[in-house]
Amino acid sequence: MSDRDRINRRDFIVTTAGVAGTAGAFAEATLTAAQAQAPASPPPGFVDQEPFAKYWGKQLREVVDVDLVAAAPELANDAVKERHQIYCHLLMKLMVRFWNGNKRGPLGSYPRRVKQMEAVQPLQPTQRYRGDMIADPDRLRVNWDRYVGHNIACVAVDGNGEIIDFDFNHNDFFRSSAEHAESRMVRRLFSLTDIFDSWKTGDRIGDKSRAFSLQNVTLYTSLESCAQCSGVMSLGGVKQVVYLQNDFTAYMIGNIMFNLANPVSGLPGAPIPIPASVVGIQQFKALNDANLAFVKDIQDAKNRNDATRAFFVSPDKTFVDYDSAITSFLCIDAARDIFEEGGKQLDSMTLKFPTAKHPNERDVLSNQECLEEARSFFKYADLEGYRGSPHKL
Ligand SMILES: [Zn+2]
Repeated sequence: MSDRDRINRRDFIVTTAGVAGTAGAFAEATLTAAQAQAPASPPPGFVDQEPFAKYWGKQLREVVDVDLVAAAPELANDAVKERHQIYCHLLMKLMVRFWNGNKRGPLGSYPRRVKQMEAVQPLQPTQRYRGDMIADPDRLRVNWDRYVGHNIACVAVDGNGEIIDFDFNHNDFFRSSAEHAESRMVRRLFSLTDIFDSWKTGDRIGDKSRAFSLQNVTLYTSLESCAQCSGVMSLGGVKQVVYLQNDFTAYMIGNIMFNLANPVSGLPGAPIPIPASVVGIQQFKALNDANLAFVKDIQDAKNRNDATRAFFVSPDKTFVDYDSAITSFLCIDAARDIFEEGGKQLDSMTLKFPTAKHPNERDVLSNQECLEEARSFFKYADLEGYRGSPHKL
């Protein structure tokens, strides 16, 4: 938001505060009366919508609480967890490969991105920060240095364990606030599955094409999904979504959708939301902790006007960014370090259940084959993958 907008909004709030105060008090009284008269059962039409009707009148904590023992009993199986871990590590490795923290451009100062500075000698008055470039570029590799969206990505895996593709958040590329990784991925899946029917994306529904449903697809996403992405995944019939970190601003909408949605036409109502901690990913807690610490520390820096702990300082030092948004957190060294640690495990992990296959599926890859698939997919993405445009297949 520009300063100008901020002033306009503030003016608006000041000039309307008196009226709003009165209206607010009135609205509160009205709401209380309405609450007292709230129907004991859902309105006509909704009363037949299960499980929505079941949750009518329940506490929010019950609405957001997903019973994974009932929803995904196979998660009690360590071999299944190991299978999920493989793709989580792949996602983290992709995040680091295409990492670009230049949210405010490559020039200026990012006090929390010291490790991402270009190693230029002698030191320049204004240092430059690395975008998504690799250390030793050759002519075969995609290599660029433009910030085209946040460091939020997802990987789609079919029912056999085969990786379909990955995608990044492209908000900046499209000057949008809605070009999120998961929703982009779902839209791409519908076009890709028309071409590549060998992917096990779902069973046929009636006389519809296989691409009509993504009920065998799992999305691994680096950040808990927002309302838009949860909605698109629900409409697409995505089986489940495994996420590496909470988005506390997304108000557990994926959980709410899962609990309230009514499965129709053979499609699941909403994907099963699975925090990666449930499948044994240590980085889940580390990312949440680091994000909360970042928010606290940057707010403290702002209160003390301490630019040495800001997110960004412009080259002429006239602009200091103390934004505590998660998209800023997902630029800094503390976040990158955690993804790097998780990504390395794709290469170092030793499987406990190499011959295990998914218990609920037929003709699937073994865990060992999944690991080989993930490693070879990374090699492909490293050479051919783009962060800011559709990938070559
Ligand atoms: Zn989203």
